[in-house]
Amino acid sequence: MVTGKWELNKANVVANEWVSRDVKRITLLSPGIAATASPGQFVNVKVNSTYAPLLRRPFSLNRIDKDKGTISLLYKLVGEGTELMAELETGDLLDVLGPLGNTFSIEEDCGDSIFVAGGIGVAPFYPLARLLLQLGQKVTCIMGARCREDINELDELRALGVNVLCATEDGSEGMRGLVTDVLRAHLRSTKCSMAYACGPNPMLAAVKAVCAEHQTPLQLSLESHMACGIGVCLGCTCKKGPEEGYVHVCKEGPIFWAEEVAL
Ligand SMILES: Cc1cc2nc3c(=O)[nH]c(=O)nc-3n(C[C@H](O)[C@H](O)[C@H](O)COP(=O)(O)OP(=O)(O)OC[C@H]3O[C@@H](n4cnc5c(N)ncnc54)[C@H](O)[C@@H]3O)c2cc1C
Repeated sequence: MVTGKWELNKANVVANEWVSRDVKRITLLSPGIAATASPGQFVNVKVNSTYAPLLRRPFSLNRIDKDKGTISLLYKLVGEGTELMAELETGDLLDVLGPLGNTFSIEEDCGDSIFVAGGIGVAPFYPLARLLLQLGQKVTCIMGARCREDINELDELRALGVNVLCATEDGSEGMRGLVTDVLRAHLRSTKCSMAYACGPNPMLAAVKAVCAEHQTPLQLSLESHMACGIGVCLGCTCKKGPEEGYVHVCKEGPIFWAEEVAL
């Protein structure tokens, strides 16, 4: 679903805590964004008040608390911007633009849903899980990572009522192997009405192939490199599916039906 209004505000940092060895969750007081945000959307953040780094950094909404007026971002420290964000303390201000992008498509009378999350790709799934569970749907989440230390949100998703299955490359959590091995086995035994995936593009391409084998509709949350976040700079293009041309991840996405994009 495409949504409309976004706002730019200085959000107070409520908390900025370590979740695992290189992942933190930052919670921001931002009643305007929290009020209108939906699962799948993201914010574009200016990580400090100087021009270094120049560009904003995009992050999916990992928690949306409309009652408290807060949003949270689950972020992996990978470079300059995320390292600066990691230094923020309670009471600091962060310049946030959002909510941006479209939302996951929800079918209210859907049966079982499945999420496939690669590493930090788990970030957008908590609010989606809450929504689907409130609608009475069953949700399974397959989480993939190199090892147990790189798995995030396992306990939180289980506490919500999600059936979580893990695949790690070293076998330290769940099955040794790839998320697609677990997905293939799951789809053989369980009919899923909808699949949702977020993670690195090679994983998304493999998930797309498995879902196509099982005729399972699939929505992808794409995390392309991005600059403006509002469709002006054209920095986040992704090739369209069978057709010629490109889509803009920030404006037409970040959520796409699998057949809409070539990975
Ligand atoms: C819609 C959207 C939602 C996102 N949600 C999340 C989220 O919830 N949590 C999270 O941790 N990250 C998320 N990302 C990715 C996040 O925006 C980048 O990790 C972040 O901008 C890196 O900033 P940096 O300054 O720390 O790293 P940089 O110094 O900019 O880059 C460090 C390294 O990371 C690589 N990199 C940077 N951005 C990306 C990217 N988008 N994809 C792949 N590699 C990249 C660079 O090539 C470089 O090798 C999202 C991206 C998009 C487009």
